[in-house]
Amino acid sequence: MGYDPKSCKAEEFINHEEILESLEYAQKNKGNKELIEGILDKANRAKGLTHREAAVLLECDDKELTDRMFKLAEDLKKRFYGNRIVMFAPLYLSNYCINGCVYCPYHAKNKTIARKKLTQDEIRREVIALQDMGHKRLALEAGEDPVNNPIEYILECINTIYSIKHKNGAIRRVNVNIAATTVENYRKLKEAGIGTYILFQETYNKDSYEKLHPTGPKKDYAYHTEAMDRAMEGGIDDVGLGVLYGLSTYKYELVGILMHAEHLEARFGVGPHTISVPRLRPADDIDPADFPEALSDEIFQKIVAIIRLAVPYTGMIVSTRESQKTREKVLHLGISQISGASSTSVGGYADRELGVKEEVTSAQFDVDDDRTLDEVVNWLLKMGYIPSFCTACYREGRTGDRFMSLCKSGQIANCCQPNALMTLKEYLEDYASDDTTKAGEALIEKEVKKIPRDRTREIVGERLVKIAEGERDFRF
Ligand code: SAM
Repeated sequence: MGYDPKSCKAEEFINHEEILESLEYAQKNKGNKELIEGILDKANRAKGLTHREAAVLLECDDKELTDRMFKLAEDLKKRFYGNRIVMFAPLYLSNYCINGCVYCPYHAKNKTIARKKLTQDEIRREVIALQDMGHKRLALEAGEDPVNNPIEYILECINTIYSIKHKNGAIRRVNVNIAATTVENYRKLKEAGIGTYILFQETYNKDSYEKLHPTGPKKDYAYHTEAMDRAMEGGIDDVGLGVLYGLSTYKYELVGILMHAEHLEARFGVGPHTISVPRLRPADDIDPADFPEALSDEIFQKIVAIIRLAVPYTGMIVSTRESQKTREKVLHLGISQISGASSTSVGGYADRELGVKEEVTSAQFDVDDDRTLDEVVNWLLKMGYIPSFCTACYREGRTGDRFMSLCKSGQIANCCQPNALMTLKEYLEDYASDDTTKAGEALIEKEVKKIPRDRTREIVGERLVKIAEGERDFRF
């Protein structure tokens, strides 16, 4: 490969020929047990994998080796993330959109979807509904429309969200998933105090990309692919990647996304903060059956496991696009964040509280997990996970390479585990049902004992008492 990720642009580096050659190399080595075992040994040292090595694992269908791969993903997940799962919810600001994405019901030609844009008052209602559930971390979502949703509107919304204090609630971290934009706008987002900037590539296959995005600003493959470079130039050091599985061939996508991660690491010294694994869902005028590349649950699990091995320090997100059952199949393989009680409608949270039924939907897609946040938290607790509402890293300045180096040395766990337990305790005090409180208290008692440093364990014990007495927002 003649491209140097340090000096070349993302679009050049993530090139078609290298992806095809990697897939060919993987095909040739399908039965090469020695090579595959070597790759698994490397993964076990938490050194990460190259996109070629990941392609080889993806091609492997030997039962024994695949079992080992899954076991290893589980071990790495435990090593770096323990049994914590960070919770968040999406907040849809506006579904006005001038793009023509053929898989998304926001596409400009869709005349059946109800177009909505939240006013600042409506944002307040949405945020209070989210706070009343117990959410502390949001991902803002919006279509691309420079007239209806310009950057000034997004910035105003962020400002409003951070300013709302209600009972014990406060949104402490706002991540943003909006269309690719300029360095200047990324700088403004950074100044507004966003956490992660998330942008899904949708597909790394340029031909497919151009067919799937026939009109609108998003049709420019290079501009979209280089968005994260501009975000980092604009000072955002936590970025979240993703492809929408189901649009194009998954093998191509996995190699593409790992090359993107390699590019960011080489060029900026820090890889992606998160990788999301969304799959295409039915939506207003979208039928996934019209797209031939649907993924089975088995392949989906394998993708999650391989991402965990390839980028052990990158968080991995699974949304309510997946059912409870599917989420159960992938959580232990490397997922570190999940959404809960999500609405993909503009204004959907306040409407839900009021029992308003939409006559014409404004939803982006149908969710497959529609449980309440308390039900999701309860389910996690009963499987032995710690639902975490922690937002401390970014508020303590642990972002970008600082976060990554703490992660690589394993030190991050000294903060994450106590923070997870303290924010779970807040949730139990303020929002949980009796059954969830019972399960949560039992888990906290068990987990506090496992905090290795005596002094930290003591401090956490003291703070848990203070939280029960009404104090909030302790963090390491
Ligand atoms: N407009 C921004 C952009 O262009 O990136 C924000 C994106 S949208 C609100 C969030 C993501 O939803 C998209 O990037 C896409 O991957 C995903 N999405 C769109 N249609 C979907 C569908 N039918 N099923 C599942 N996910 C979908």
